[in-house]
Amino acid sequence: MNKVIFPGSFDPPTNGHYNIIKRASKMFDKIEVVIAVNPQKNYFFSAEERYEMTAELISGFGNVRVNLWDGLIVDFAVKAGISSILRGVRALADFEHEFELSIMNKALNPEIETIFIPTDPRYFVLRSSAVKEAALFGGDISAMVPPIVEKALKAKIKTLSLRT
Ligand code: ADP
Repeated sequence: MNKVIFPGSFDPPTNGHYNIIKRASKMFDKIEVVIAVNPQKNYFFSAEERYEMTAELISGFGNVRVNLWDGLIVDFAVKAGISSILRGVRALADFEHEFELSIMNKALNPEIETIFIPTDPRYFVLRSSAVKEAALFGGDISAMVPPIVEKALKAKIKTLSLRT
């Protein structure tokens, strides 16, 4: 079986993530989306919220599953019996970071390979952080994220502004 891991923060999942998953679902027999839970990182959405939004996003694909993971990605790979990590690449700046990450993962476990898929040009500048910022300032993000994510972002922003 041709299996792959697609790890990330998914904070929140965007149409860019969806596009990579959709294309990968045709290339691989099975995809395990792995949502990172890193206590050192400040996420906008909780692990459970990120899980639920991503689960909804992948619900149309029979060969894609979603997981929460609070360890090293290479350790998830070993646990799941998968030897490839899939990453999407946008601009050149992304590539530098992704390239370093792949070398780090190779050092941690030489058996695990990283596969890069270039972004669809429509999503070249689309990143979760930019979506959050646009939403915080009331921008129209409907072309950037699925409707459930847009709704969740608006609801979250509302609760945050109620607190201040
Ligand atoms: P981000 O970098 O937007 O915070 P993640 O950490 O959730 O996203 O990234 C998980 C994976 O999804 C990474 O490999 C990232 O490059 C990829 N990805 C995210 N957005 C896009 C996009 N617009 N096009 C292609 N790949 C993307």
